[in-house]
Amino acid sequence: MSSTLYTDIATLVTNDSSLDRGLLGELSDAAFIEEDGYISWVGEKALAPNADHRVSLAGKSVLPGFVDSHAHLVFAGDRSKEFSARMNGESYSAGGIMTTVNATRAATDEELDEGIATRAMEMYQSGITTFETKSGYGLTVADELRSLKLAVQHTEDVTFLGAHVIPEEYKSRPDDYVALVIGEMLEACAPYSKWIDVFCDKGAFDYDQAKAILNAGLDAGLLPRIHANQLSSSRAVELAVELDCASADHLTHLTDKEIDLLAGSKTVATLLPGAEFSTRSAYPDARKLHAAGATVAIATDCNPGSSFTTSMPFCIAVAVRDMRFSVEQAVYAATMGGAKALQRDDVGLLAVGKAADFIVLDAPSYLHLAYRPGVDLISETFIAGTSIYRSNK
Ligand SMILES: [Zn+2]
Repeated sequence: MSSTLYTDIATLVTNDSSLDRGLLGELSDAAFIEEDGYISWVGEKALAPNADHRVSLAGKSVLPGFVDSHAHLVFAGDRSKEFSARMNGESYSAGGIMTTVNATRAATDEELDEGIATRAMEMYQSGITTFETKSGYGLTVADELRSLKLAVQHTEDVTFLGAHVIPEEYKSRPDDYVALVIGEMLEACAPYSKWIDVFCDKGAFDYDQAKAILNAGLDAGLLPRIHANQLSSSRAVELAVELDCASADHLTHLTDKEIDLLAGSKTVATLLPGAEFSTRSAYPDARKLHAAGATVAIATDCNPGSSFTTSMPFCIAVAVRDMRFSVEQAVYAATMGGAKALQRDDVGLLAVGKAADFIVLDAPSYLHLAYRPGVDLISETFIAGTSIYRSNK
C-alpha cells in the first residue's frame, strides 16, 4: 500500500460532473492523491490530506489520460506514396486497404507485434492511456485470428473487423465473403475479441451485409460498433442506432435527420479528425452534434492509409480549428467521450475510485493543447499510478 499526493497543479481537469465546475470539472491550484493505482482524493491544494509521498507539479496542469476509442494498430507496410499522390490530387477510396492487407499477410507475427508495441508507445507519448485496436488487415481466418491474438497482448478493447473491405479474392462473390466472416471467421475470432465492427460504406459493406455481420457478432457475445458515413451518407447511422452500437465512427457525411437519430440514442458519435485531414476531405461540423445533445468522442483512427497519426493533441487541435469544437468540448471528447464510446466507466475522469490514468501537461492549462498545435506538451503519462512515459525535455 502506497499513496502519492500530486500538488501545486495549476489546472486540474477531472471531468467530474458532480463538482459543478463546468464541462471539464475544472479545479485550479488543485491536488489529488493516487493510492495503489486509483484516485483516492481530489480537491483544493489547501485541503489536501497527507500521503506517503508528495510530488509538486508547480505550474503544470493535469488531465485524465486520453481514451482513443478507434485505432487500427495491427498492420505492416507503408503507404506514404499513396498519401503523397492523394495530396497531389488523387482521391481516396476504400480499395487502398488491400495494399496493407497484402503487406500484413506477408509479415511475421514478430513484425506485427513490434509494430503494435511501437505505435502503443507513440500513443503513451501523446497522452493516450487507453486505446482500442482492430483487426481488419488479415481478411482470412488465419490472419484475422493472429491479428487479434497479438492485439489482446496490448489492450483489453480489441475489435474483430473481418468486415473491413471485401478482399481481392472475393471481389466477384462478396456474399461468400460475408458468409465466411459470420461463419468460420467469427467463430475463430470471437474468443479474442470484445467488439465487432464493420465498414458500412460505398465500396465496402452495405446496410444488409453490415446488419447480418453485427447481428452475428451479437449472437457470439461481442458488442457492436460501426464505421459509418466516411465516404457517403449510407444507412450506417440508422443501423448503428437500430442495433444500439456503442459508437458510430467517422460521420464525415451527416444529415440533420441522422444527427437527431444519434442524439436520441445511446450511440456515441465518434469523429476522426485525422481521417479528414489525411484524405483532404471536408470536416463534419461538431456544433450540430453538440447542439442536438449527442455524446461526442474524438479518436485517432490510427491506420496506415487514411490517418497515420497516434497524436491525440493533434486530433484535438484539428477538431477545434476545423470541426468547430470548443477547446473544452474537444478535451472532453478525447477523454470522457472516448470512455463512453468504449462503455468504460473506470477511465476518462479523475474522481475517487477511478483509475489513476493521467497526463501531466507542460502548460498552465489544457487550452494549450489547441492553442499550441504541433508542440509536444506531454510531460509525463501515468497508467494506474505508474509513470509509463516521461519527456526528457
Ligand atoms: Zn477505422
